[in-house]
Amino acid sequence: MSRDITLLHPELQEVIPKFLEKCKKQGFIVKITDTLRSKKEQDDLYAQGRTKAGNIVTWVKYPYSNHNWGMAFDICRNDGKGAYDNSDGWFDIVGQIGKTFGLKWGGDWEIKDKPHFELTKYGTTNQLVAKYGNFEKFKKTWQPLKEDNYMFVERSYEYNNKVKSYLVINENGETYIKIRDLAELLNKDLSYDNDSKITTLEDIIEKKPIIVNDKETSVQCINYNGFNYMNARDLGDALGYEVGYNENLHKVFFKIKKSVLEKIKLFFK
Ligand SMILES: [Zn+2]
Repeated sequence: MSRDITLLHPELQEVIPKFLEKCKKQGFIVKITDTLRSKKEQDDLYAQGRTKAGNIVTWVKYPYSNHNWGMAFDICRNDGKGAYDNSDGWFDIVGQIGKTFGLKWGGDWEIKDKPHFELTKYGTTNQLVAKYGNFEKFKKTWQPLKEDNYMFVERSYEYNNKVKSYLVINENGETYIKIRDLAELLNKDLSYDNDSKITTLEDIIEKKPIIVNDKETSVQCINYNGFNYMNARDLGDALGYEVGYNENLHKVFFKIKKSVLEKIKLFFK
């Protein structure tokens, strides 16, 4: 079975390294064990525990696994403990981290599959079968990874913690980005650190000033519906990106150079 993530949907190719990196930062060493699965591989796997020896490891026949569509991958731990040892809740924590990237986690299923993650934004396997018929046809619709230097963040006035796009709000013509999202983008621990609970902005500014290129900077913040937002333009100045608004698309956009992106370890798309 393949461990090659380049066989997966481009969005997964982009998300997986970020996911692994975030896990690593939190002390979880993750290994990819299974990505795209051919018909033969799925058939063999389905036979396991049924017509062949072994434990049952899959509940679906080809092509009804997201692995058959390049939309799923499996992991194990790679820290010297048992590959599937979950006595310390390792898979549960990693599962939650995966979900922050918009991945569906098999640990949330009725029949749990904790090493499994998938992307279902293009539909369930039933829908993919109905729409494309086979994997090759679906694959032809895949857009290559963006090569440009810019990233765009959709504007939203809604609160939906399940959406992993970056929520921004607009006040008096100024755009603000949610600090919790930003903390995540910056790979800071703000949203995970229970000891330094975010209550007010002053707390954050005092406790965790934003440091860019060894320079401390101040960013105007507001509190809205209990969430702290930072002025995107101030932030843009501080981090070296441009903020603008596309009238036609009704989208706020953020432009950032890849070099800057890597330097400050932002993980914007
Ligand atoms: Zn799987």
